[in-house]
Amino acid sequence: MPISESMVQDIVQEVMAKMQIADSPAGKHGIFKDMNDAIEAAKKADQIVRKMSMDQREKIITSIRKKIKENAEVLARMGVDETGMGNVGDKILKHHLVADKTPGTEDITTTAWSGDRGLTLIEMGPFGVIGAITPCTNPSETILCNTIGMLAGGNTVVFNPHPQAIKTSIYAINLLNEASLEAGGPDNIAVTVEHPTLETSNIMMKHKDIPLIAATGGPGVVTAVLSSGKRGIGAGAGNPPAVVDDTADIRKAAQDIVNGCTFDNNLPCIAEKEIVAVSSVVDELMHYLITENDCYLASKEEQDKLTSVVLQGGKLNRKCVGRDARTLLSMIGVNAPANIRCIVFEGPKEHPLIATELMMPILGVVRAKDFDDAVEQAVWLEHGNRHSAHIHSKNIDNITKYAKAIDTAILVKNAPSYAALGFGGEGYCTFTIASRTGEGLTSASTFTKRRRCVMSDSLCIR
Ligand code: NAD
Repeated sequence: MPISESMVQDIVQEVMAKMQIADSPAGKHGIFKDMNDAIEAAKKADQIVRKMSMDQREKIITSIRKKIKENAEVLARMGVDETGMGNVGDKILKHHLVADKTPGTEDITTTAWSGDRGLTLIEMGPFGVIGAITPCTNPSETILCNTIGMLAGGNTVVFNPHPQAIKTSIYAINLLNEASLEAGGPDNIAVTVEHPTLETSNIMMKHKDIPLIAATGGPGVVTAVLSSGKRGIGAGAGNPPAVVDDTADIRKAAQDIVNGCTFDNNLPCIAEKEIVAVSSVVDELMHYLITENDCYLASKEEQDKLTSVVLQGGKLNRKCVGRDARTLLSMIGVNAPANIRCIVFEGPKEHPLIATELMMPILGVVRAKDFDDAVEQAVWLEHGNRHSAHIHSKNIDNITKYAKAIDTAILVKNAPSYAALGFGGEGYCTFTIASRTGEGLTSASTFTKRRRCVMSDSLCIR
């Protein structure tokens, strides 16, 4: 059989990949001491990625998906062990979601106009080396998901991960580069430094070779990125309210809300953080929360104790974030039964455990006198983040009114919040929801720039 040029190319790439694996120190792919060196390496990898066909990019992405699935449990355990946040079972699901539902190169599309004056295309081209800042709440999920999208768009990426999740982040970055090498791609498609700090973040943000920065985290980092003078994608904080009106299936609403709220111990930024219910359904909702959904009703005294532990001096106690309900209760001396998944109580919207984005399974229920009042209170509780909101209702006028008023990137109707990530809902997955800057749920196309390509007076064959 004659050997074609592409077969030779495949063989050469495979051999080179194996040589690179053998040469590199084990477990060190993409990890540098110095941020400038990391950026330089990502830039070299970018020069290789730029010359790759879409098919070659997709081959690496397929290899990444396989690696994520093979390592889902290791990554989940590592994330929980290192950060003390979340739970292994849900983190495994989150990794499978990233592997299965993060869009690849199919997200890169072309717009075309053809007519008497020729053919014009809008192509989605790469930026080059993207800078990315990632949170400790979904550390490896965000790194893996960002890299699939950024690589599909033809870019490489430099991460400045949260220092509290650096081991998990390094493990994820190693896997990404191993997957690339095994698929015939370059090393350093994703890179980071051993010890990320605000200083390394600043070097990255100011570096001349980084044209775009994607920040996933709280308000501080998004503001820092948007002040950098570079183009920034800002995926910031939320405080998603779940509104329940009198047309909802209350029993199902209670179940959906608790399932969404307790997923990975409430770490996802999209997860239900409080309920706003019209007065006529509050008692029934409470009944189902407590009797059918393993919720613990906190007394006034317990709420006060929780407030002083969770919000020490008004500041969110990191030791409480992403902990399960029983652990939180044990911190205030309550030995709750083994089945307890969530802590509930009724309170005003200004209650600190309701108004603050806690990221733990504590669900305050705010009573509204009617639907308009529920919308007003929910909008107040979302704090203008324009991030996520949820509603349980069968009245489409109510749903429409709420959607317009709250103006969030995500609005889930009659389902747990995670339906927005493609888990029990249609659509793709992302762990970077650009609430502040308006890109919404990011994917490969978000990490590209639009380029117009014009052929005048030719190639129209109509
Ligand atoms: P965090 O803001 O403490 O940290 C996020 C990242 O930003 C970390 O890497 C941190 O080191 C860095 N950082 C913080 N302040 C910075 C500054 N001034 N300059 C440069 N870098 C800075 O957040 P976290 O606790 O890791 O994650 C939880 C927060 O992130 C919540 O508010 C949550 O809603 C939000 N979040 C949003 C999304 C989204 O897609 N919109 C996804 C996950 C988490």
